[in-house]
Amino acid sequence: MKRFLPTLVIGAVILLISALHFLTPVDSLILHQIYQRLYYIPVILASLRFGWRGGIGAALAASLTYLPHIALHWQHQNYDYALNQYAEIALFFAIGAVTGWLGDQKRRESRRAERINAELQTAYAELRQTVGQLLQAERLSSLAEIASGVVHEIRNPLGAIKGAVEILEDELAIDSPRREFARIAKTEVERIDKLVQEFFHFARAKEPQKSPVIVNEIIHNVKILIENQADAQNVKIIENLAESLPKVSLDAEQIKQVLLNLAINSLQAMPDGGKLIFRTFQKDDQLHIETEDTGGGVDEAIKAKIFDPFFTTKDKGSGLGLSVAHKIVGQHSGSLTVENIENGAVFTIKIPLAQSREN
Ligand code: ADP
Repeated sequence: MKRFLPTLVIGAVILLISALHFLTPVDSLILHQIYQRLYYIPVILASLRFGWRGGIGAALAASLTYLPHIALHWQHQNYDYALNQYAEIALFFAIGAVTGWLGDQKRRESRRAERINAELQTAYAELRQTVGQLLQAERLSSLAEIASGVVHEIRNPLGAIKGAVEILEDELAIDSPRREFARIAKTEVERIDKLVQEFFHFARAKEPQKSPVIVNEIIHNVKILIENQADAQNVKIIENLAESLPKVSLDAEQIKQVLLNLAINSLQAMPDGGKLIFRTFQKDDQLHIETEDTGGGVDEAIKAKIFDPFFTTKDKGSGLGLSVAHKIVGQHSGSLTVENIENGAVFTIKIPLAQSREN
């Protein structure tokens, strides 16, 4: 259809011009000279639209419909003018071929420009992503330095407070209502201690201890760990795992930690049930591990911040789960990204296979 309509229009114009030639008496020489030049319009249009082949084709069509008129009406009465007409036909072909060739060149150029433009767009997007990751890494490493100093300063007095509360508790009668205050104090101290410990692990930046692993097995282990909680929340866990993935050199414990963090977040996003899908596959020499949930997705307004340490939207959240996950994946030369889908979020871990493949 894209070619049919222009071809039809060009053919109709050629036929119309030839009809004018046939219908106009030969004593109107001026009119014939005008008509004869009108053929250039369809020839040029065809060559611009379809390249040199189109130009030659239109010149051929013009000459085939024009020649009978020359032979019948001019050849024997005005031989000189007939010669002029034959020369004009030769020009149709020359113009068709040259304009078509130029048109082809232009098309090739614009296709090349489009391709370069697309490549530039991709490179720009990759660059932006890399800059984002670098900024993130920068933020994390400066935070890590501050953190390890602060953590020690906090944990020591916490230990002292806990000990002191226990001593005070011992002095209370077994049925004293004040024991409840002691219990609250101890629970809160423990909560702070746990948080600080988590942060300490995060700040310590343990180097991955890599060994060849089957990623699908790690996912299976994570599934076992969260199964009870998922059942209790009416969340269905689906494993959509590619078979025959190569063994990859990873720190299995760290990747398990990452997947557990992602899975726990997904469960927390689906308190009233839903679906959690683990997916693995290989694409462009990268191992993809995805977790997909139906928890409504990550609010667009906070999407840029969720990998920052301490960023949380939960009352009792530490805000460390995703930043730890991001950091671990980065230490495996990979990337961790999030994308919202219709009714949930997909977190994607990509790990380059080139350096981690273990056959
Ligand atoms: P925490 O879970 O302690 O809040 P995280 O770093 O794991 O810390 O997550 C940061 C924030 O990212 C969460 O508070 C939540 O708002 C958002 N988030 C993480 N995972 C999901 C998810 N699967 N669906 C929707 N929001 C999520």
